[in-house]
Amino acid sequence: MKIKLFGVRGSIAAPLNNQAYTEKITEIIERCVDNHITSRDQIPRFLETLPGHLKYTAGGDTTCISVTDDTGKVYLVDCGTGGRLAGDELIRTEFGKGKGTLEFFITHTHWDHIQGIPFFKPLYVPGNQVNFRSPYPDLETRLINQQVKEFFPMPFLATASTKKFHHLEKGQVVEYESGMKISFHPLKHPGGSYAYKFEEKGKKFIFATDAEFTGDDLDLIRGMTPFFGGADVLVLDSQYTLDESFAKFDWGHTSYTMAVNCATIWGIKTLILTHHEPAYNDKKVFDILEEAIEHKRHLGGAPLELILAREGMVIDL
Ligand SMILES: [Zn+2]
Ligand SMILES: [Zn+2]
Repeated sequence: MKIKLFGVRGSIAAPLNNQAYTEKITEIIERCVDNHITSRDQIPRFLETLPGHLKYTAGGDTTCISVTDDTGKVYLVDCGTGGRLAGDELIRTEFGKGKGTLEFFITHTHWDHIQGIPFFKPLYVPGNQVNFRSPYPDLETRLINQQVKEFFPMPFLATASTKKFHHLEKGQVVEYESGMKISFHPLKHPGGSYAYKFEEKGKKFIFATDAEFTGDDLDLIRGMTPFFGGADVLVLDSQYTLDESFAKFDWGHTSYTMAVNCATIWGIKTLILTHHEPAYNDKKVFDILEEAIEHKRHLGGAPLELILAREGMVIDL
C-alpha cells in the first residue's frame, strides 16, 4: 500500500507567513556565504546539507491522508484543509470523469478534520460514488450542518456525487475485494476520536489522531497493544512539547515524548509524528523530531524509526 500525507497541521491551518519565509531565506543565504557557494553547480549539494527546517516546511494544512492499496483503490482518512489537495489530485483520475469510487474514513468531526469537504472537487462530479464510514451514527447530519447556508453557499447534499453513509459497529472490520482490511479503535479525545488500521498482505499501517496519552495512561496504553502492537507504520498525534502538554492537560493531544513511549510499548517499527501545533514554526517542529530521537535514545534505543510528518510525504509499505 502507498500512504500520502496531504495535511499534517493540528487544530487550524497555519500557512508559512512572510516573516517566516524571510527568516528562512536569510538563514539559507547566510549559510551560502559561510560555505563559499559561488557557482550554480554547487547548489544541489549545498541544499542537501541544510537542516530539515530550511530544506522543507512541515506544511500548514490540517489532517487528510490517502491510502492506496495494491489494486489502486483509494481510501481517505479525514478531510481537513489538506483534503482540497487530495481532491485536486483525484480529479485528474477517473474521479474527473465521474467514474470514481472513494472510501472516506472519519476519525471525528472537529473542524480541522472536515473543513476540506466543501472544497473536495470529486464530491461535485456526478457519477462519483463516495462512501463515508465512521462509528458516528449522525455523521451525515454533522456534514450537512457544516454547509448550512449561513456558512457555505453550497449545501452538502446538493453536491452532485452519490454519497452513502455506513455506520461502523464496535469491533467491525471492513474487508474489501482487494484484500484490504480496515479496523478501528477509540481514542481519548474531547468528543471522541478513532484510530484506523489498514492491513494488506501482512503489512499494518495505523493512523491515530487526535489522541491524548499522558503518563497517567500507562495501563490504558498497554491495554491497546492488541490493536496497535507491531504496526509497520504508525502516524500518531504528537502535537506538543512535554511542557506544553502539562499546560494543556485534557486538551486531547499528546506530547512527542509520550508518542515515543507509546510506540515503544507497542513495538512499532516506524513512528511518524503528526498534528503539529499551529503556533510552532518549522524550526520548533523539526526540533521536536531531534528531541524525540534523543528521548528514544534515553529509553534504551528501541529499534524504532522516527519521522516527522511533512505535507506531500509519500510512504511505500
Ligand atoms: Zn485535530
Ligand atoms: Zn480533535
